Amino acid sequence: MTVRTWHVWSVFALAAVLAAAVAGGRPGAPTVSNAAEPTIRSVQLAVELASGDPVLLTFEVRATDAAEADGAARRGLAQLAPGSRVVEPEPGSVTAQWGRWSWLWDDSEIPVPIAYNPTGAPPTVSPQIVVAALQTWSTVPTSKFAYRYAGVTDRGASMSEGLADGENVVAWAKLDCSTGCILGVTSKRTVHEADLVLNSDPAAEIVDGQDGTNDARTVILHELGHIAGLEHSCPSPFGPCTDAERAAVMYFQYRGVHRKLAEDDIAGISALYPRSSSQPTPTPVPGATPEPPKPELPVVLESGWNLVVLPAGDAATIAASLFCTTAIYDFRDGAWARWIPGAPPAVQSLSALDTGRAYWVLAWEPCAHVFGG
Ligand SMILES: [Zn+2]
Repeated sequence: MTVRTWHVWSVFALAAVLAAAVAGGRPGAPTVSNAAEPTIRSVQLAVELASGDPVLLTFEVRATDAAEADGAARRGLAQLAPGSRVVEPEPGSVTAQWGRWSWLWDDSEIPVPIAYNPTGAPPTVSPQIVVAALQTWSTVPTSKFAYRYAGVTDRGASMSEGLADGENVVAWAKLDCSTGCILGVTSKRTVHEADLVLNSDPAAEIVDGQDGTNDARTVILHELGHIAGLEHSCPSPFGPCTDAERAAVMYFQYRGVHRKLAEDDIAGISALYPRSSSQPTPTPVPGATPEPPKPELPVVLESGWNLVVLPAGDAATIAASLFCTTAIYDFRDGAWARWIPGAPPAVQSLSALDTGRAYWVLAWEPCAHVFGG
């Protein structure tokens, strides 16, 4: 488990190890005679924007070696933030340079709002996958950390702008994939703002689905871990990494579909944002102190898809109260569960709704219901 926030020395240590590996190979590593297969590598750059504003960027790059990954990251930077420059700190200046970025989200900022700009998204990637990834990081019982889906925005990620725009955004941009291919870039500013840009170039092959080269949910889940403040589970590609670190969403390499947090991810987010014993857990314990009565609030559905917090209880009863409900969907345990009013039992995979959880509800017309407190 690695829960430190970024330190420049780790980047330089990593760069040195990578350089050594490129030059001579790792002692004891199996010799590979064929040309190297591209793998997904992480490149971190401290950048001064044209405005002088500092920003930290973590690129996930598909490349055959570290040099190609670094080159692709720098080309992507030129595309995303023209006029910026990479800060190459001198030895000894490291701590002061990077101290400013080792922030975590404050209690008052949690749940951290994340907006989504679907402009340019591949056709198979729907906003639901962003919501699903947000929800996955937001439902760790031992951590107080949570994201909040702030809806669709027309703002882009602001890393190309001199000033932070105050909004955390997941957006798409078409980034050059000719030599090395950036899949995603996470930016973290000195003020508490983070953005994520995903590569919409078809060559990046970010799709929603188990068969995809790069499963969008997996990529977004990993990047949201960085935005929360997590480093890679095993920071050096040459380890030794434990099995638990290798199983983590925050492992430094993409190894297929990983849509659930692993033990190491849960330990990491819980270490950064522990849930104190006085805070309510997301899953109520039977026999525990009852929650204070909530004010009665109407649940309002518009035609089409709605992301709403529903009261706890039986899905069928709740769907009957909200008469316009066509379906209730919930992303849990790596798959969508659903309740469809009137459908045969074999089709239903969602029966009980939990407190404080947001559900996707498809409505065929607008309707609302005030659930009793
Ligand atoms: Zn990463």
